[in-house]
Amino acid sequence: MTTLPTPDIAAAKAALAHLDIEENENAIKRASRDFFWYSPVLKTRMDHLLADFVVRPKSEAEVIEVLKTCYAYDVPVTTRGAGTGNYGQAMPMRGGCVMHLVHMNKVISCAPGRVIVEPGCVLKDLDAHCIGACGYESRMMPSTWATATVGGFVAGGSGGVGSVTWGQLRDLGNIIRLRVVTMEEEPRILEFRGEELARVSHGYGTNGIITELELPLAPAYDWVHCFITTKDFGAAMACAEDLANEDGILLKLASVFEAPTAKAYFKRMEAYVEEDDHMVGLMVAPHAMDALITYLGRRDDLSLIYRSDDNDWPRSPGVAFEYGWNHTTLRALKVNPEITYLQVRYGFPDHKELIEKIRAAFGDELIQHLEAIRMNGKVAFAGLTMVKFTTEERLDEIIRIHEEAGALIFNPHRYTLEEGGRQHSDERQLSFKKEADPKGLLNPGKMISFETPDFDFKDIYAYPGMTPLPTEDA
Ligand code: FAD
Repeated sequence: MTTLPTPDIAAAKAALAHLDIEENENAIKRASRDFFWYSPVLKTRMDHLLADFVVRPKSEAEVIEVLKTCYAYDVPVTTRGAGTGNYGQAMPMRGGCVMHLVHMNKVISCAPGRVIVEPGCVLKDLDAHCIGACGYESRMMPSTWATATVGGFVAGGSGGVGSVTWGQLRDLGNIIRLRVVTMEEEPRILEFRGEELARVSHGYGTNGIITELELPLAPAYDWVHCFITTKDFGAAMACAEDLANEDGILLKLASVFEAPTAKAYFKRMEAYVEEDDHMVGLMVAPHAMDALITYLGRRDDLSLIYRSDDNDWPRSPGVAFEYGWNHTTLRALKVNPEITYLQVRYGFPDHKELIEKIRAAFGDELIQHLEAIRMNGKVAFAGLTMVKFTTEERLDEIIRIHEEAGALIFNPHRYTLEEGGRQHSDERQLSFKKEADPKGLLNPGKMISFETPDFDFKDIYAYPGMTPLPTEDA
């Protein structure tokens, strides 16, 4: 592991005192937490983590000042958008400074097809601005659209609502340009496009801070939110896949929820579904609704129970995407705190067979939740499978069984880039970290290949520099 310098917190704080610094203890605590607690494994390991101070820069010049000062005083810096990440991405492993980008929220310019924006802009505000200015909206967004920032999405997220049509953030064309500040004695400002984007996108802010993004947009629609039920899980999968493959039907979401998800966890659906109903949630462009009805007319195993543009439900269930992606797990957790989840990728063309094989292997220990996504032009499924948690050992075993069956797991019970990804180092991110963060101060503990290059991935990585767990009598 790289030698850890001792931070001089007091000196850094004093040097930054003219900026917007948070002094309130509770506010510092809140800014030191993300959604790591979704994972029972991370909850026990990260609950105690706390920043020494929080600073909220108002401009790129202030970001540079924070990074330069923290570099001089050896203070770790963990950047925060809105703190909605699940993998403990925004948790300050060694304390130090949390740099909260809440003030850097301006849309700089917007035109049909593209937007230039500061990283702290909340996605909902970004879309409101772009729709108002030119009738366009984000191609994709996490289901935390109402609270998450665009910088946090690109640095920590992967895709989501919109991925059924546009693929994922990492796919060519889904990010145009990133402006990045390094953490050196004299921070540099770099502009990345093309192949270079992979150096910092989905890098958890470990090797550079994004201060401006240029992203593509798609035409905005007044999306129709629909829910369909069926007694046959295979029919639910086929419905989501067929509609995503229909060339003339424009979707922004196609989620599949195995029974009893809708009945047990979707409170506003309870009166309209039965225990054995599987459900499909859709966002459909208004001009495609006729085609959806035509498709449903060909199928006698599917029932449209709700469409947001025409229904008699006394209480609206809200938007479909707040049932999908990781909101499914959130709703389940509220009812049953024992639930946790996995992130699985079922690749084309054997995705449905593989899902059925996994279903058969586990019974009701797992509840399937799938999202149709486009992968290299082919529709397949991302799984955000709900798991009835018993022990860490069993969770690891469940993951192993998935991998042996041929499913790809992105383990949400790990806080490092490698373990949450493809279990090996990303040379582009690592080489840029060595150059852009030579002291290893940016979001420490999240890139194993930098901290502990000879790690063997047999057990969960325990970052040696992490603030130790409090002792019982502390
Ligand atoms: P944060 O959590 O604050 O940060 C995320 C990571 O990015 C951290 O490592 C942080 O240090 C880093 N970071 C933040 N800003 C910058 C910057 N300017 N420069 C460099 N690094 C930076 N994710 C998805 O991809 N798709 C989903 O559909 C989805 N659904 C979710 C649903 C729920 C209920 C929850 C709790 C989470 C979900 N997530 C999803 C995860 C998360 O909400 C998204 O990835 C979100 O976009 C993160 O944005 P944020 O502003 O909260 O980022």
